[in-house]
Amino acid sequence: MSISENLNKIKSSLPSHVTLVVVTKTHPVEKLMEVYNAGHFIFGENKVQEMVDKYEVLPKDIQWHLIGHLQTNKVKYIAPFVSLIHSVDSLKLLKEINKQALKNNRVINCLLQIYIANEETKFGLDYNEAEALLHSDELRQLKNIQITGLMGMATNTDNRQQIAAEFHTLGNFFKRLQTLNPQLQTLSMGMSSDYAIAIENGSNLIRVGSSIFGAR
Ligand SMILES: *Cc1c(COP(=O)(O)O)cnc(C)c1O
Repeated sequence: MSISENLNKIKSSLPSHVTLVVVTKTHPVEKLMEVYNAGHFIFGENKVQEMVDKYEVLPKDIQWHLIGHLQTNKVKYIAPFVSLIHSVDSLKLLKEINKQALKNNRVINCLLQIYIANEETKFGLDYNEAEALLHSDELRQLKNIQITGLMGMATNTDNRQQIAAEFHTLGNFFKRLQTLNPQLQTLSMGMSSDYAIAIENGSNLIRVGSSIFGAR
């Protein structure tokens, strides 16, 4: 199937409250334009330089989501245009995003990345750290960022029960935090292999690459 056929098949299967981020990392801009021309404008990249390069040459109504690990010294390159940062994992990083957002006269929306997998290679805060950060006085002073939700990546495994358990715990944590923090609207969980399980457990933002473009 073509890129646009894959895209339309996935989009038509999603519940209306679920938003799709098309993960475009490693793919050339010609392929991104196939997605754009099919009417989809939310793209996710995991590397700053690649996202900036693509932003510069592609239509300006694309919403760019940074989904990969972000180093403090690179925030300045994406601050003028990024629409959502999924991968915030420290107060230090938030302070830098706030500083660069202020320089650009913007408020940048951010998700706290929560470490839910049983894998050392993944980044993120644990549940206690995330809750402490969310309720800290220091966060309240950062006027140019807004924490609008949480993100998590399940363990890379064929064990569907383990994936479901990880998403379930994050889904419950999100619901509990939401009662105290109504600005938390977004739960980013699920990729090509596990987005159906993620949606069952409360995800409303999924990040899908290979099911649309084929294997990288
Ligand atoms: C690459 C990536 C995805 C998409 O993975 P696919 O398996 O290609 O759907 C989702 N989230 C993050 C953080 C990624 O780096």
